[in-house]
Amino acid sequence: MEFDFTPEQIQLRKSVREFAEQEIRPNVLHWDENSLFPLGAIKHAGQLGFLGAIFPEDLGGAGLGYIEYAIIIEELARVDPSVGLIVAAHNSLCTNHIFIAGSDEQRRRYIPKLATGEWIGSWSLTESESGSDAAGMRTKAVKDGSCWVINGSKVFTTNAGYADVCVAMAVTDRAASHHGVSAFILENGVPGFRFGKKENKLGMRASATGEVVFTDCRVPESQLLGKPGEGFVDALRILDGGRISIAALAVGTAQGAYEAALKYSLQRQQFGRPISEFQSIQNKLADMATEIDAARLLTYRAGWMKDQGRRVTKESAMAKLFSSEVAVRATNEALQIHGGYGFLKDYPVEKFYRDVKLCTIGEGTSEIQRLVIARQLLKTQ
Ligand SMILES: Cc1cc2nc3c(=O)[nH]c(=O)nc-3n(C[C@H](O)[C@H](O)[C@H](O)COP(=O)(O)OP(=O)(O)OC[C@H]3O[C@@H](n4cnc5c(N)ncnc54)[C@H](O)[C@@H]3O)c2cc1C
Repeated sequence: MEFDFTPEQIQLRKSVREFAEQEIRPNVLHWDENSLFPLGAIKHAGQLGFLGAIFPEDLGGAGLGYIEYAIIIEELARVDPSVGLIVAAHNSLCTNHIFIAGSDEQRRRYIPKLATGEWIGSWSLTESESGSDAAGMRTKAVKDGSCWVINGSKVFTTNAGYADVCVAMAVTDRAASHHGVSAFILENGVPGFRFGKKENKLGMRASATGEVVFTDCRVPESQLLGKPGEGFVDALRILDGGRISIAALAVGTAQGAYEAALKYSLQRQQFGRPISEFQSIQNKLADMATEIDAARLLTYRAGWMKDQGRRVTKESAMAKLFSSEVAVRATNEALQIHGGYGFLKDYPVEKFYRDVKLCTIGEGTSEIQRLVIARQLLKTQ
């Protein structure tokens, strides 16, 4: 076993941290309060390779693995979880779906532009009537000559409104159930495809979340992604990798909140001494640090396994479940350590506390992660 990062991974963490401190930190509150999508910073992140972390260099990617990808998301989330979420949805959902299921031609057309941030990607599975039960979607695509005609709508699409490319799932054969959903690549500007309502959210406010609407959207066969009918099965494989990034997002958010709380506890004086000298504050810090470390280990274990080409359905669900729940607890305790000041926007913990909740919901709720884990456990018996 090897628990140390390589010198290259340490250097990567340093570079992402510098980027986050210099280009994100000064804007966090402004972006959050005004729900501003940080397009300039995202484009720069693309130039630095953060938007193409897990894709090969010959397709314009950084040629890194999931450990490095987790480092990137963790470091971005440590400063602004919204930015981590934008990068995660772009990398491991949209671009990775094209990488895993796309033809050579599709890979060559889309991945270089997505991996460098020239284009931004989004991925639409969820609908208003089908969230956890994603296969119950109603959006459908019907073959008409050499084209597909898509009708329906999606909700909760991250990067909606800013994405140049959207990978969307639609029913192509209702009778075939899980093998009757296909994936399509939509380019912004295609007639019949538009982004709808932008949601006004509790947290992750700099990341845009919105509706995607299809009205007689006619696309050529070349836009079908993967085998017809296998879009949902492919989506589950995509989520196996994506959940590692949500776990990293949770770890980074928890780390940011923990660091803020540690610093505050050393500065804040009550009863004539820093509050860090009170045992109940020390207990909180000790629990936070221990749980965050455990969450980080589960996350990097899942990333390591993915890099070995192993199946990570159980391990990525475990990492996502544990890290997101740890992060909710850690941000809560970080706010508590700040007392009344934690309730104010003058301190960063208030935002971590709001942002973190997404981690127990996006890419499958905690309840669904338990279901996925239990299924894997029972399968082995
Ligand atoms: C900020 C944000 C960004 C998102 N980004 C994207 C995106 O880019 N693309 C995309 O496709 N989706 C995205 N989502 C959607 C997200 O994946 C769904 O919200 C999530 O899967 C839950 O679906 P739901 O909201 O419809 O909740 P529901 O499925 O209605 O769940 C409601 C409650 O019931 C529980 N529940 C449901 N079924 C079961 C069951 N079988 N057993 C036990 N409990 C159950 C759930 O755990 C939850 O507590 C995003 C969501 C948010 C909030």
